[in-house]
Amino acid sequence: MPGFRTPDAVVVGGGATGLVVAHELTARGFGVLILEPGIRHDQSIFGADVPELLHQDGLLRWGPIGLDQPSWPRELEGIAFAPQVPAVGGLDVVGWNVRPRATPRSVEHGWPLRYSELVPWYERIEELTPVRVPERLAPKDQRFIDACVSLRLAHLEGADADRVGWKIQPLAALSAAESFADRASATGMLEIRNQTFAVELLHEATADGLRRVRGVVYRAADGSLVEQDADTIVLCAGAIETPRLVLASALGAPGVAGRGLTCHLPDLISGILPEPIHLDAEPASLARCEFPGYGSIFPIRLDPLSFAIASSLGDPATTASGPWNWSGWSTGSTLKRRIEAWPRTLTLGMSIDDRSRAGNGVRLSETQDEHGAVPRVRYDPDDDSIRRREWLARRAGEILLAAGADPGSIHRADAPTALLHAMSTMRMGADPDLFAVDLDGRLHRATNAFVADTSIFPNAIGGADPILTAQAMAARIAAGLARRLS
Ligand SMILES: Cc1cc2nc3c(=O)[nH]c(=O)nc-3n(C[C@H](O)[C@H](O)[C@H](O)COP(=O)(O)OP(=O)(O)OC[C@H]3O[C@@H](n4cnc5c(N)ncnc54)[C@H](O)[C@@H]3O)c2cc1C
Repeated sequence: MPGFRTPDAVVVGGGATGLVVAHELTARGFGVLILEPGIRHDQSIFGADVPELLHQDGLLRWGPIGLDQPSWPRELEGIAFAPQVPAVGGLDVVGWNVRPRATPRSVEHGWPLRYSELVPWYERIEELTPVRVPERLAPKDQRFIDACVSLRLAHLEGADADRVGWKIQPLAALSAAESFADRASATGMLEIRNQTFAVELLHEATADGLRRVRGVVYRAADGSLVEQDADTIVLCAGAIETPRLVLASALGAPGVAGRGLTCHLPDLISGILPEPIHLDAEPASLARCEFPGYGSIFPIRLDPLSFAIASSLGDPATTASGPWNWSGWSTGSTLKRRIEAWPRTLTLGMSIDDRSRAGNGVRLSETQDEHGAVPRVRYDPDDDSIRRREWLARRAGEILLAAGADPGSIHRADAPTALLHAMSTMRMGADPDLFAVDLDGRLHRATNAFVADTSIFPNAIGGADPILTAQAMAARIAAGLARRLS
């Protein structure tokens, strides 16, 4: 470990994107310090079941490593669940390895760059991770594809298809820690300072009225506050903590930083088939159906406990108003029957192309934790996002029926909002009155502070899972940064 005094860049957050920034800068010979509250975990958990992870002390808990101190509270409005994980790899540690690209139309309509400009960065990440389309399908995925074919949905080939149809899901073979942290560490130019939590960016005025960051204050594992010099800072703390840090440091443009949260408004629908379809262990999801403008639908493997939890979310059961028999929570004997039928249950996830709204996002609460004002996160979908969700839920119900599910067994979770994919709280765009960062990822009002995580997404990228696009953008931002540093 180099033990830098003033590295070329300080990266806040060693998650899915921070590790890419570190990889790209160290590969070009620059010294990088990552501040990361978590530690490096055993990577064999990558792609594992979430309940399995719950047994690993404190892994899914947003707080100091170990369970002897309280976790870090977050205030949620209109959101049931907002997972955050202190770990080298961030949320990728508990994530699935699904790696679709954004839908081209979502980038063409809403992003300040062309989709074609993103493609070389996609290719770079796909090569490093590496991302591959699996050759063999599990029974649940085959059943899903057969149903799509019987509904005359087209087979989409290639990563950039932008029309309705099904495709086999591209998967990453390695986690972010394996692909990027290990390679970056091998250069001798990376220090990951674990169990450190950035609490404030120190900045000063420049002659032209901008702000220049000169350092970052972090809380170390022993509770002390440490001031770290920084010539360049890259924020990759995720879509909740990055705006929190910017707002707490009074660095972002008022009324812009923290605004615009998107989350894909996920939902689940399941139906019982005549025969078992689950293998003992199978990848989480190997197929997806794209409905550009609405989002995507994909079969998912939920173990029995996750399935029971997912079936008990939502509001109390509501009357059916779609191709499902009932929706909302299941309890008692109904839930017991559902769990007994789990081996024969096909479960579909839905990821909605939800709209960014200024009223949704992160602001600072009056409540304090040990790091300062707690983030208050709000999400209230607009009517358009709700309409898209309803439309997709109907398509998902039709796919279940076409797969042979008993019509009386179809259940929609009508899940309350979960921030599995938090995005768009520091949106990228040219106008500083509307967007937090410019096309290089630089904060509009600062000379040397950048953002390179999912918070820069101007929209919800069409409903595609975010890591690949976020990492592609992180690589692009790091390459621009390297040119400035040279
Ligand atoms: C169960 C689950 C499954 C998922 N599966 C997929 C999938 O298959 N495919 C996909 O594309 N996406 C998936 N996602 C979403 C994906 O994991 C996230 O979108 C992605 O990890 C976000 O990357 P990030 O770098 O913005 O944030 P993160 O990966 O969360 O990294 C943020 C890092 O910053 C650190 N940090 C936070 N605050 C501070 C601070 N103040 N100082 C220093 N460090 C800080 C955190 O400890 C963390 O390591 C999944 C998410 C969940 C919850």
